[in-house]
Amino acid sequence: MNKYNSYTGIDFFRLIAALLVITIHTSPLASFSETGDFVLTRVVARVAVPFFFMTSGFFLISRYSRDNSELKKFIKKTAFFYGIAILIYIPVNLYSGYFHQDNLIQNVIKDILFDGTFYHLWYLPASALGAWIAWYLVKRLGYKKALTAASALYLLGLLGDSYYGLAGNIPGVNSFYQFVFQVSDYTRNGIFFAPVFFVLGGLTADMRHRISLPKSACGFGISFVFMLAEALLLHYFDLQRHDSMYVLLVPCMYFLFHAILHFRGKRLERMRTLSLCIYIIHPMMIIVVRLFAKIFHMQNLLIENSLVHFLSVCAASVIFSVIVTALLRRYGRKNRKPAAGTDRAWIEVDLKNLTHNAKTLQKAMQPKCQLMAVVKAEAYGHGAFEISTCLDQIGVKAFAVATIDEGIHLRKYGVRGEILILGHTAVWRAAELKRYNLIQTLISYEYANALNRQGASVKAHLKIDTGMHRLGISCYDITAVKQVFSLKHITVCGIYTHLCCSDSLQAVDVAYTHEQINRFYSLIHALQDRGITIPKLHIQSSYGLFNYPGLQCDYVRAGIALYGVFSAPNEETVRKLDLRPVLSLKSKVVLIRPVPKGECIGYGRCFVTERDSRIAILSIGYADGVPRNLSCGNGMIRIRHYLVPVIGRICMDQLTVDITGAEDIAVGDVATLIEAKTDSELTAAIVADHAGSISNELLCRMGTRLPVIVQNKI
Ligand SMILES: *Cc1c(COP(=O)(O)O)cnc(C)c1O
Repeated sequence: MNKYNSYTGIDFFRLIAALLVITIHTSPLASFSETGDFVLTRVVARVAVPFFFMTSGFFLISRYSRDNSELKKFIKKTAFFYGIAILIYIPVNLYSGYFHQDNLIQNVIKDILFDGTFYHLWYLPASALGAWIAWYLVKRLGYKKALTAASALYLLGLLGDSYYGLAGNIPGVNSFYQFVFQVSDYTRNGIFFAPVFFVLGGLTADMRHRISLPKSACGFGISFVFMLAEALLLHYFDLQRHDSMYVLLVPCMYFLFHAILHFRGKRLERMRTLSLCIYIIHPMMIIVVRLFAKIFHMQNLLIENSLVHFLSVCAASVIFSVIVTALLRRYGRKNRKPAAGTDRAWIEVDLKNLTHNAKTLQKAMQPKCQLMAVVKAEAYGHGAFEISTCLDQIGVKAFAVATIDEGIHLRKYGVRGEILILGHTAVWRAAELKRYNLIQTLISYEYANALNRQGASVKAHLKIDTGMHRLGISCYDITAVKQVFSLKHITVCGIYTHLCCSDSLQAVDVAYTHEQINRFYSLIHALQDRGITIPKLHIQSSYGLFNYPGLQCDYVRAGIALYGVFSAPNEETVRKLDLRPVLSLKSKVVLIRPVPKGECIGYGRCFVTERDSRIAILSIGYADGVPRNLSCGNGMIRIRHYLVPVIGRICMDQLTVDITGAEDIAVGDVATLIEAKTDSELTAAIVADHAGSISNELLCRMGTRLPVIVQNKI
């Protein structure tokens, strides 16, 4: 996300929410109207803390997550701030006699975990606990069930909070709450209160479609009015034990948050620190204002007048926090680390181009035909996580992988659509196919039978060999094909074949491809004649779509086209689509050295300088997927505006380029090995060609050691 397309609305509302929290603790309208005070502090200001939870959830919780390192980071950070806040308030705790209470240890533990060691600090442990619960709910159950579970917790919380008057009278229920209150003073905590807002925040972030501003404003307005009525009624009937939680607070927050998201613009980075600082420090400022009033005999103005009291606490808190924020900026960590992973060698993937390609392919296909995104081999080296979660988010509903483990990974990343395994899976893993809802390719009649004997109900696509002679039942073996349809535990929901020379426009190859297509359809018709209901059909991969765009199928299995490159340079195709490369491969210059004429460079002494030279060492090698065949002048690399040759042999982790004459190249410069530009000299197809291979191989060999850096996140 760039600097001018950030959620300015969220940044601004952080400040508003922090001031609303001060409102709760100072009751600005208390001197004027009891009802006014109730409405302001017990209803309006109650949106503040859920807003903070939702914001954290928005940036943290996602169904698409590879591991829980983000969660750990969040909890660590929250614990760090909590630690500081606890320390800050120890003097006040001392003064107020906190350490003289009965059952000190027990109470300290309870306070640290739930209630906060100073009254408002409960927010920090609640935030960590709420995030943790929401994270696992969403990962394990998906949003629908997670939201249901979090709502159930919230409901339990309600009955111990605003609705306690109802629950308190029922004996069994009451003893449950008596137990709860021994552990936590309120149900407004990390278990009952926070999770639902974290889940809602994550849900909002993962939703592709935002509610429009007028609709969300309207939704907020209506929910708020009802929440006001709810609060006043509960207050009137005296049902509240505490007044943080309302039923209508949940829809209220949902719409409010959606409305806030519409305000986009410049990132206001400081607001986050500022609002947190105000949140933590304002009770201290209440004490300071009181002290000040006492010393200067200004109690009448500064304390008795609730509005002035509120304003002076706000002013003091904001001024203090602005100073702290400025100091942190000035003296905080200076050396901003560059983006993680860009210190040695890395892959950059441009998700805007990926999205563009997926849409372009979808448009080029026959109506009703679906894109099946082939993401095998770490999505052709682009990073299966980054690619498949992006495609899932933009609505791609079918994926193909090579192995069952790739399929399971996709599920763990949160991918929802169909997942077809193109290769062989050991039959004893049938239960896993079922558990992760994966579709298995039936590669032969014997295989289908063996899989069926496992007894787990499995979805499958039947592969037909029409002339490639790799996987599949022969297209002439109608009996075997027909029998597969009657296997008890296997549901055949697709039939497909693979073309072996659809990339060639030579007459013999075109004829062979037509023959393959005809064989496939003859089989289909024969099955139809025998009364079999024909499931989904697919034939084309990328080149099948390029060169045989008229085929009427249910899916196109697109791999290389999705990544926006041709297999080889300058290929002719029947249909020319505007596809854009997604991946760049980059590394860094880590060392520059002069080498006199006549010296050898690298293993095997196979390069000898013919002049006094300057060479640069790049921190990337064949273990990162750079083909060793690019050694000794076969490969070129871009550094700044120069295109420089690879000299000597490429090593496992390093390679050398000749930069003689390119005086301005310096240590730390970025070197580009594959460039994500259609007309570059360094397209994947050209680089692969220099190495004597095709881009498919070049790309998919990069999936192991290199970090993937995402650009243009959608
Ligand atoms: C890999 C693969 C594809 C994708 O091929 P591209 O040429 O990259 O589009 C399609 N079908 C099968 C069976 C495959 O193995």
